[in-house]
Amino acid sequence: MERRHFDTPMAAKILHYSENRNLFTLFMKNAACIFPDAACKNCNDLLLAKDKNAIFAANKKRNKHIIDMKYIGAHVSASGGVENAPVNAHAIGANAFALFTKNQRQWVSPPLTQKSITLFKERCEEYGFNPEHILPHDSYLINLGHPEEEGLEKSRAAFLDEMQRCEQLGLKLLNFHPGSHLNKISPEACLDRIAESINITLAKTEGVTAVIENTAGQGSNMGFSFYHLRHIIDRVEDKSRVGICIDTCHTFTAGYNLVEEYDKVWDELDEVVGLDYLRGIHLNDSKKPLASHVDRHDSLGKGLINQTFFSRLMRDPRFDNIPIILETPDESLWAEEIAWLRAESETVNVKV
Ligand SMILES: [Zn+2]
Ligand SMILES: [Zn+2]
Repeated sequence: MERRHFDTPMAAKILHYSENRNLFTLFMKNAACIFPDAACKNCNDLLLAKDKNAIFAANKKRNKHIIDMKYIGAHVSASGGVENAPVNAHAIGANAFALFTKNQRQWVSPPLTQKSITLFKERCEEYGFNPEHILPHDSYLINLGHPEEEGLEKSRAAFLDEMQRCEQLGLKLLNFHPGSHLNKISPEACLDRIAESINITLAKTEGVTAVIENTAGQGSNMGFSFYHLRHIIDRVEDKSRVGICIDTCHTFTAGYNLVEEYDKVWDELDEVVGLDYLRGIHLNDSKKPLASHVDRHDSLGKGLINQTFFSRLMRDPRFDNIPIILETPDESLWAEEIAWLRAESETVNVKV
């Protein structure tokens, strides 16, 4: 293994590169890098790429030499204005974050002010947060599979507003829970409605991907089976603007044994939905047991999903370059949890 130095606009970091094995692992906090060593034949494209997006795009195209790293953060407070979210995320050492762009417990919130929008963008830039790694979450009141016309219309209007807020903020993703049938329509009809709601919203907006979150399956909530996610995606017309977010607590309590069958669960997700659709992870431990269908998050290592699982996920390249968001209950632990996760992700454990 050979060591080469490279520069980022932020700081000089170290690149471990192995030509024989045709892969590399980067140890760095920010991927906006320019390689100073033009002798590296595999990285010539990257030399030309001046910004992170261009680097990712170039790499994705070539489908090799992807700058692999974990983007870790938490669902931070946006109280006082969305512009405070990047400040709060930076304060806990995050390089990704989630937020609500409006009060999540109200149907209607005042529109974002131009001042808020400008400050939000400036601060994301200043702290190095890329829109690809910011995962806004919609209001809990929205039910895109609502069995009744009034509730459905209200939900669709609110969802459109959420997506338009994302557009205004220059964000690329909107994370939401699929919906509930409330025991008034069949689960299948509910999933069809959710897909229709997504289609309606995507047709009226641009540039934002609808990111469906899997659920624990509490009550009549849909989305606890990977097949539900597939069912919805199959019916979404613009497949380039639909994705999924996997919540580890929800997955576990929905009955997928991430602890004992790590590979089996991810392989199943890949088979049923396709990991290409994965746009984010909610990283939570669970207070409730496997298949309990109860959604109670716990801090990492304190619940029934063990630390070995989180450590393994941090070293798994399938979860590189997407936002990995903590929704763990004790906010005072976030900085510590992020530091621990980052240290785990930087431990060399390279699969060939
Ligand atoms: Zn979640
Ligand atoms: Zn949850």
